[in-house]
Amino acid sequence: MTFEDLKFEPELAEGLDAMGFKKPTPIQQQAIPVIMENKDLIACAQTGTGKTAAFVLPTINKIIQAQTDQTYALIIVPTRELAIQIDEAIQGFAYFAPVSCIAIFGGNNGISFEQEKKALSQGANIIIATPGRLIAHLNMGYVKFDHVKHLILDEADRMLDMGFSDDLNKIISFLPKQRQTLLFSATMPPKIRDLAKKILVEPEQINISISKPAAGVTQGAYVVYDAQKPALLKNLLNEHKGLASIIVFCSRKEAVKNLERELKRSGYNVAAIHSDLEQEERNETLRNFKNKTLQIMVATDIMSRGIDVDSIGLVVNYDVPNDAEDYVHRVGRTARAETKGTALTFINPEGQFKFGKIEELIEAVVNKLPVPAELGETPEYNPKKRIGQIPGKKPFNHGQKRAGGGGHKGGGNKGGGYKGNNPKGGGYKGNNPKGPRPEGGNNNGGGGQAPTPPTA
Ligand code: ADP
Ligand code: MG
Repeated sequence: MTFEDLKFEPELAEGLDAMGFKKPTPIQQQAIPVIMENKDLIACAQTGTGKTAAFVLPTINKIIQAQTDQTYALIIVPTRELAIQIDEAIQGFAYFAPVSCIAIFGGNNGISFEQEKKALSQGANIIIATPGRLIAHLNMGYVKFDHVKHLILDEADRMLDMGFSDDLNKIISFLPKQRQTLLFSATMPPKIRDLAKKILVEPEQINISISKPAAGVTQGAYVVYDAQKPALLKNLLNEHKGLASIIVFCSRKEAVKNLERELKRSGYNVAAIHSDLEQEERNETLRNFKNKTLQIMVATDIMSRGIDVDSIGLVVNYDVPNDAEDYVHRVGRTARAETKGTALTFINPEGQFKFGKIEELIEAVVNKLPVPAELGETPEYNPKKRIGQIPGKKPFNHGQKRAGGGGHKGGGNKGGGYKGNNPKGGGYKGNNPKGPRPEGGNNNGGGGQAPTPPTA
C-alpha cells in the first residue's frame, strides 16, 4: 500500500511528500481507512510505529474537505512535550492546507494563559491539549466545542497512569455526543478497555502491539549495588563517547537531579529533564538534545513515551522501571524505526524481581553483562526472590516459559518501527508562509514555543 491508495486531498498529499513520507506504516495502513469511514477506533501499537500520522492525516483530510473554520477535532495528550510534538507534525503535514491548529498545554503565568485564551476564543480547527489545562479553560466558558466531530486520545494508557481519568470524563462532558472517538495507546491494560467501553461506540480494534522492544535494540543488563552505579555509568559513557545522543532514565526526579550534578561535575555534556523544571527549560533541553548539541539527557519516565528524537544510540536504565511496560517504552527510545541501538539496565538487588517480570513480558532473557572487576563484588542474581515484598501480592511465578539462553532480540517485531527521511525537527516549518500562529508561533525550528512552566 502507498499513500496514494489512501486518496488524500492534494494539499495533504503534497505535505506528506514534503515530509518524505512514502509508505504508510502498518498501524497507518490499518487505522487510516477506519478513521476515514468515521468509525470509532481503539488502536494499540508500540512506540515508534507512527501512530501520530495515523490519526493526524485522516483528521487533516476531513478538515480540508469540510472547509470549516470551526473547531473540528480535539486531541488530548498526557504531556506538554507531546502536545508540542503533535502540533509540529500537524503543521508539517498541513503546510499546504488551510488547516489551523493550536496546542494548549499550560504554564503557570498569566500571560500564557491569556494567550491561550485568546487563541481558544478565536478558534482553531484542531486543538491539542493536556487535560488539566484544557479544563481550566473550559471552566471559564469561552471554549466552544459544539462543532467538534473528532475526539482523539493519544497515549491513553499514559493518561490513565497519570491519573487523568476524571479529567477526561469532564472534558468529554463538554463534547457533542455525536462524534467520532479514537483511542490510541502503546499498551492495552484492562483499564484502557474499560475506558473504551465507556466512551467509544462499537469501535473497531487494531492491535499490533506485542510489548517487545523493536528488533534493532541490543539489550543488556548489569547486576550491581547502588553504590557501583555512578562509576559503571561513567565507564559506559566513556565507552560510548562517540554517540551523538544518549538517554539515562531514572525512576525518581531526585535521582535525576543528583545524577545530573554528578555527571556535570565530571565534565560530561549532560542536562536533566524532569517535572520540576520550568517549561522553557524543558523545551530548551529537548531542543538541544534533538539538534545534538546536548549529548546526554538524564530523564524521568515523563520522557520515556511518545517523544521522538532521532537516533539515540544508547539508553541506560539507571534503575529498573517499576512498571514492566515502562521498560519497553524506555528501551523504545533507541532503535527508532529500523535503526540500531543499545539499551542497558542497572539492576540493583531490589530491582531483580522487577527485572524478572520484565523478562517475562518481553519473553526473552536479557544478557547479564560482566561488571568491570575494579568496581568490586556484585550481588548474586536471583529474580525469583522478592526483596521488600508488597503485602497481599502473590509472588510472581517465574521461569516456566523462559526460552533460556541469552537472546537479546526478544523476537520479531511485526509492527515494526518506522522512520522515513522526513526533515528533522521543526526545521521544516521554519519558513512557514502562514506566519506566526495565535499563541505566539513557534517558527524557530526546534521543539520550542512555550512560555510555560508546569501547572499540575
Ligand atoms: P508513535 O506515536 O507510534 O510512537 P510516531 O508517530 O512518533 O510514533 O512516529 C515515529 C517516527 O516515525 C516519527 O519520526 C515519524 O515522523 C516517523 N514516521 C511515521 N510514519 C512514517 C511514514 N509513513 N513514513 C516515514 N516516517 C514515518
Ligand atoms: Mg505517539
